[in-house]
Amino acid sequence: MFEKDEWTQKEFYKYKNELEKEGAKVVLVDTILKPLGNMKTITYNPYEMANMPENTVFVFYCDTGKTTKERLPFYRKNFLNTDVFLYGEEEDIGVLIINHPKSINMKTYDYIIVGAGIAGCSTAYFLSKYTDSILLIDRNSDLAQGASGAAGAFLSPLLGKPNKFKDLVTKALNFSTDFYLNNIPKEITNCGVVRIPKNKEDAQKFETYKPYMDFPYEKMEDGYYFKIGSQVNSYNICSYLADKVEKLFDYEVLATEQNSDFRIINGELKAKNLILTTGADISLIKEKYFNIRAVWGQK
Ligand SMILES: Cc1cc2nc3c(=O)[nH]c(=O)nc-3n(C[C@H](O)[C@H](O)[C@H](O)COP(=O)(O)OP(=O)(O)OC[C@H]3O[C@@H](n4cnc5c(N)ncnc54)[C@H](O)[C@@H]3O)c2cc1C
Repeated sequence: MFEKDEWTQKEFYKYKNELEKEGAKVVLVDTILKPLGNMKTITYNPYEMANMPENTVFVFYCDTGKTTKERLPFYRKNFLNTDVFLYGEEEDIGVLIINHPKSINMKTYDYIIVGAGIAGCSTAYFLSKYTDSILLIDRNSDLAQGASGAAGAFLSPLLGKPNKFKDLVTKALNFSTDFYLNNIPKEITNCGVVRIPKNKEDAQKFETYKPYMDFPYEKMEDGYYFKIGSQVNSYNICSYLADKVEKLFDYEVLATEQNSDFRIINGELKAKNLILTTGADISLIKEKYFNIRAVWGQK
C-alpha cells in the first residue's frame, strides 16, 4: 500500500482499515482544511504526537495540490522513517504522511530567518558564509512577494542634514552598489537617478541640503542627477542571495517561544537563533524596552 506516490481518498479509507486491522492507530492531523468525512482530527502538535503509542500512523491532510507538493520535501526531511504520499480526487488533494511518533525529528537549525524579502535574503546570504544550518521562512509562496517585490527597486541617495540614519544609508548605498556590480552585474542598471523636487517647498529644502551631499550630482532642468543611482531586479537579487539556503514557503509563523537554549517556532521548528525580517509586519516582535515601528513597507 505504501509503494504508490498518490492515493485517492477511496484508497485512503481502504488502507486506513487495513492498517487498523494490523493493530495500528490511524490519526488524521488537521492542518488547514476541513476534516475528511466523519473522521475525528487532532491539531498538529509534535509534542503531543510524540507521546502517542508507537504503532500510531499519522495522516496529514493539507492544502491543495501545488502548495502541498512544495511542502513535501520539507515534511520528508523533518520526519524520520517517513513515507509521504499525495492522495487526491479532484479538489480533495492532500498530503499523507505515515509516521511513527517516536521518529518525529525536530531538526535544530543554527538560524531560522522569518521573512524572505531583501532583508531576510541578505541576512541568509551573509550568514551562509559561516553555517549551512539556516532555514528561511515565508508565508508567501516565493521570495520577494512583500514590499521587496512591490518596490521600484531604485538605489538612490538619501538627502538631508547629517544624522546617523543618513550615514547608514550612504554606507549601504556604496556597499550594495559595489556588491551588485561585482557579484550580479546583470541584475543592476547603474544608469543614475534624477531627484526632482515635488514643489517649491521641496526645492527650497533641497537648497539647504546641498552642503551635506554625500555623492556628486549635476543640476539638470528640473532636478538633480546623481550618477551613483541604480535600479535593480529585486526578485532576481533575492533569488541569488537565498540560492543556497534551505527555504520553507507558505508557512506562517504564528508563535515563537524560548526555552533555555532554543527558540521554538509554531511548536515544531527549533533554532539556536531566530531572526525576524518580517518587514512592515511587526506582530512577532515583542520588545518591551523600546518601540519598534515599521518605517516603510508594503501598504
Ligand atoms: C510600492 C513600494 C515602492 C518602493 N520603492 C522602493 C525603492 O525604489 N527603493 C528602495 O530602496 N525601497 C523602496 N521601497 C521600500 C522597500 O521595498 C522596503 O524597504 C524593503 O523591500 C523591505 O524589505 P523587507 O525584507 O524588510 O520586507 P518585505 O519585503 O516586506 O519582506 C517581509 C517578508 O516577511 C514575511 N512575513 C511577515 N510576517 C511573517 C510571518 N509571521 N510568517 C512568515 N512570513 C512572514 C512577508 O510575507 C514578507 O515576504 C518601496 C516599497 C514599496 C511598498
